[in-house]
Parts: sequence; C-alpha cells; structure tokens
Amino acid sequence: MANSTKSIHPKGLYVLFFTEMWERFSYYGMRAIFVLYLAAKATGLNPGAGWEKADALAMYGWYTMMVYVMAVPGGIIADRFLGQKKTVMLGGILLCIGHFILALDTIEAFYAGCVFIVLGVGALKPNISSMVGSLYRKNDPNRTKGFTLFYIGINIGAFTAPLLVGYIGETINWHYGFGLAGIGMLIGQLVYIWGQKHLKGIGDFMPKVVDPASGKKAKEPLTKIEKDRMVVLGLTFLIAIIFWGAYEQAGGLMNLFTKESVNRSIGSSVVPTSWFQALHAFYVILIGVPVAFIWNYLRKKGKPNSTIFKMGVGTIITGVGFIFLAKAAYDASTLSTGQASMIWILLAYLLHVVGELSISPVILNFITKLSPVKYVSMMMGLYFCASGFGNKLAGILGEAAFEDSSPFAIFMGIFIFCVLFGLLLIVFVKKLNALTHGADIEIESDPVESA
Ligand code: GLN
Repeated sequence: MANSTKSIHPKGLYVLFFTEMWERFSYYGMRAIFVLYLAAKATGLNPGAGWEKADALAMYGWYTMMVYVMAVPGGIIADRFLGQKKTVMLGGILLCIGHFILALDTIEAFYAGCVFIVLGVGALKPNISSMVGSLYRKNDPNRTKGFTLFYIGINIGAFTAPLLVGYIGETINWHYGFGLAGIGMLIGQLVYIWGQKHLKGIGDFMPKVVDPASGKKAKEPLTKIEKDRMVVLGLTFLIAIIFWGAYEQAGGLMNLFTKESVNRSIGSSVVPTSWFQALHAFYVILIGVPVAFIWNYLRKKGKPNSTIFKMGVGTIITGVGFIFLAKAAYDASTLSTGQASMIWILLAYLLHVVGELSISPVILNFITKLSPVKYVSMMMGLYFCASGFGNKLAGILGEAAFEDSSPFAIFMGIFIFCVLFGLLLIVFVKKLNALTHGADIEIESDPVESA
C-alpha cells in the first residue's frame, strides 16, 4: 500500500482522481444553475421555476447542506456494513439516477432528482476521500501531495462544469444543462467500475473483532490519545462550518450579486453569470501546487506549518477576500451605473481560494491521520456534514442580504468574523497541536520531490 519509491503515486489515486473529477463535474454543473433556474421567470425562451430570489437561495442552502449532511450516514454505512469502496459504488449509481431525473422538465422531477443526488453525494463523497488516505502510510509526505492532486482533480471537474453546464443551461435550456451534468456523472461511474482492479485492498469492509468468549463484538474503548485527537477533530468541524459559511457565498449571494450589480461586459460581449462559478476551481488548478509547495517549503524550514496553523491562516485570508466584495457592494450602491467592476470579484475569489487551499485538502488529510481506523469514514462524514452546515449558514447570510440586511453589511461582517476567528486559532495553535500527539508530523522517507 505504501508507496515510497520515486514519488510515483499509487495507480488507485488516479482512479479516485478521475471518478471524483467527474462526480464534481456533475455536482458543480448542476449547482451553478440551481438558483438561476429556480429564480428565472416561468415564461420566456428558457423558462425557469419563477421563484422569488430569497426562496431560491433558501432552497439552495437546504440542498447544499443536505448533500453534505448525508455524508454522516454515508460514512456510517461504510464503517459498519459495506466498506468505503462499495459505498462509493452505490453513491455513484444514485447520482446517475438523480442527475438524469433532473433532465425532465417538471418541478416534481427537480425535487426527486435533488433527493437522489443528496443520497448519492452522501454515500460517495466522504468515502472516496477516505480511500485516498488509505493509499498511503500515515506519516508519508506523499500523502499530502496525493490529497493536493486529488483536490486539483475535484476542481478540474468543478471548473469545466459551470462553463459547459452553465452555458447550456443558462442560454439554451436548463434541463439540457442538468442532463449534461448527468452524462459527466455516468463517465465518472464508468471510470470507477473500470478502475476496481487498482483499488485492491483499499476501502474494503473491516468486520469488527468478535470476542470468542461471549460471541459478541468486542468493544475497544478509545485511548486517551485517541480521545484527545477526537477533540481536535471536533474543533476542525467548527472551523469547517465557519470557513464554508464564508466561502460558499459564491453560489448564492455572490452569484446573484454578480448577476445584478457587477459589470460583466468585456468589449462587446457579456460574461454569463454562471461562469464566475468556475473561478474558484480555476484558481485551485492554477495555484494548488504552488500553495502546497509554499507550505511544504515552510515545513522544511521548520516554520509553523501544522494543520491547525494553516487553518487559522486560511480563515484570515478568506476573510480578507470579503473586503473586496464589500468594496464592490459599496460601489454598486453609490455609482451612477449601479454596477461595480468585476476586478473586485476576481480578487475576492482569488483570496478565497488561497484560504481554501490552506484548509480544505489539508483537513481531508488531517482527518485520515487523526481518526482511529474504525471511525475514519464516520469522521469524514461528520466533516462534510459540518461543511454542509457551513453551506446552510452561507444561505442564511445570503438571504439576509436581500431581506433585512444588505450585501455590504454581510460582506463586512464576514470579513471581521473570519479574521478574528483565525487569529484566535493561531493564538492557541501550540495547545491544540499538543492534542494531536504527533499525528500531524510528516516524516520524510523519500528524497525525491514531486507535486
Ligand atoms: N470544493 C470541495 C469539493 O467539492 C469542498 C467540498 C466541501 O468540503 N464542502 O470537494
């Protein structure tokens, strides 16, 4: 399993990379047109569902929360019954069904499709992430690189999807867009089926130990070290809620704000709003390796680089990104055109991604390092669940911007909160690191470097 020769990653990584890339293509493609479809007028060339904006955002918040909340049962099913590998297979099937249902043009089909997707992501997402961790030894630095690559794969899917699905959905027909997302998922599922031969011994079900005397499953209580690590993971989940609550403004409030209050013209053409949904992923692909490289460089220089420290820095940088959005909201409400320059949006997304890269792939790795083996999938599920609450929080804040607050106030509020919270983490970093009992330390076993 461990791979310490030359820096070449196990073949299984590429199977998981491409499966998840396509799964994310379908997820983010559908997501890019979710609020736009619901809020589009019910009549016209490309009729939508004709909902109020605040209702569309509320629904979006519920949906993006539920996909990740269902990662908890998804993780438990893997730990207790099926193992991660089979649960991912099951999730993929549910996702194919869900996305194809969305291609049908009725609101009932929309609801039904969403239910299947929620169940499918719940089964697939936490478990495929845990499987990446199982490809490497616990303290192998290649593991961090494996997660960085996996994360870039996610974002190749997330980048292309809003461009293609968004374009087709927004300009031709929403349901063709949803159907295209389904084709992406089907490709992902085929890759996973084909790639089973490279996943031998990874993500298999591990039956609990049966006590020969009583014939019952032996309960092994957690050790003190394991308990301490669980405490740190609990904090990680709180960070996840805050970070994703800020970051996920992208698909909701930032999406509608960009549509209405940002000048999207370049020369004589106008950039479709949904294309901005590809920006996060574009930046991840662009700076994913450089950011990982910088953290790795700091690690080698002996500078602070623990996961908790990275998360603190990441939260602060994400928060600072909101200053640019506040500026855009201020301009939109004061300029005679009523529209802000798109440069502020581009800068905000860039900072959000620097923050994301210091938090999200790092947390996936952290969870697989800190969790007791028998609980990895469940802890991964809880992490995604926390990110789901973050998505819902994002939706609530977004709704408020259109009801009793304003986009400017919301953006400023997020800026202040994230910076203060990130600083707090950095202040307590030593204490928190002690609770990991060395699980976060990487041991160089191979001199050859790779991204
Ligand atoms: N962008 C990441 C992905 O799609 C993060 C998801 C999450 O943790 N909420 O995988």
